[in-house]
Amino acid sequence: MTKIINSPSKYIQGKDEIANLATYYKLRGNSGAYLLVDKFIFDNFKDKIVESFEKEGVNYHIEVFGGECSKNEINRNIDILKEKKCDAVFGIGGGKTLDAAKAVSYYENIPVFIVPTIASTDAPCSALSVIYTPNGEFKEYLFLKANPDMVIMDTDVIVNAPARLLVAGIGDALATYYEAKACVDSNASSIAGGGITKAAIAIAELCKDTLFQDGLKAKIAVENKVVTQAVENIIEANTYLSGIGFESGGLAAAHAIHNGLTILEEGHHVYHGEKVAFGTITQLVLENRCLCEIKKVVEFCKSVGLPTTLDELGMGSVSKERLYEVAKASTAEGETIHNMPFKVTADDVFAAILVADELGKN
Ligand SMILES: [Zn+2]
Repeated sequence: MTKIINSPSKYIQGKDEIANLATYYKLRGNSGAYLLVDKFIFDNFKDKIVESFEKEGVNYHIEVFGGECSKNEINRNIDILKEKKCDAVFGIGGGKTLDAAKAVSYYENIPVFIVPTIASTDAPCSALSVIYTPNGEFKEYLFLKANPDMVIMDTDVIVNAPARLLVAGIGDALATYYEAKACVDSNASSIAGGGITKAAIAIAELCKDTLFQDGLKAKIAVENKVVTQAVENIIEANTYLSGIGFESGGLAAAHAIHNGLTILEEGHHVYHGEKVAFGTITQLVLENRCLCEIKKVVEFCKSVGLPTTLDELGMGSVSKERLYEVAKASTAEGETIHNMPFKVTADDVFAAILVADELGKN
């Protein structure tokens, strides 16, 4: 099979990078930068962002994100961008702001700069945008023509977000190696649409090792709002290593089980990465990995505060019948669980969820 690896053209990570956005813009654009920002970022960082563009003498328009990455919001921004004659778009904020900026760049064929202000998922680097209805229900995936032109992480901004978000990013990143390894073993294709390169699996493995080495230290540092080397390493693991690792290494059981768990309203307050962490433990049970290996992952999750039981996911009182519905949803046609190197049925997933839950309790 032909192998493919995707990545953003440039990945930048450091302190106070939000003050350099105009400098980066000048490498790609001329007529003006369209800055789509979260309300929180507008209220707290507007002066710093604007100063960067004023200092460099670059035209810009700053717009507050409407809150939902819907077709309406995307079209609203495209209209303003055209009126202001901007030739590149920045997404500055959380996942939905970034996805809206990516969609604007897709429809307008212009460069996109992604500036995540949290490190809670591995989505920023990917050539993928999730579109919702104006009411916030999932609508569709938009597969982009290319990965972002630049991904810029300001570590000062990220450490000031709640520690739980960084920990959720650790949960999302924890799945990356195990899912990529399953895809390699089954010769499945990745999200990038091809076979898996040696580079992608090496990056996925480095992601896992970095989490185990630095996850707890980074969590403690972020709780104290300071940037340490461990924080730097975890931001890179959550965003870049996991981003390349999932897109070019592939998804398997952990994310499919996450998707199954989303049918339970009881878990709607739980972040993506927190459910993915439990999905990862469940995948390890499905694979019948040695107890020492599963315990290592469970203990790591506990140490950083990721949920390891159904109760911790808010699903402790869910009936077995409804858990079976989760297992059925996880094994629906087209789910990435079918990338596992063996056949997986709803019965298998149901059993693995119960065992994972018990292992988390012990
Ligand atoms: Zn994920």
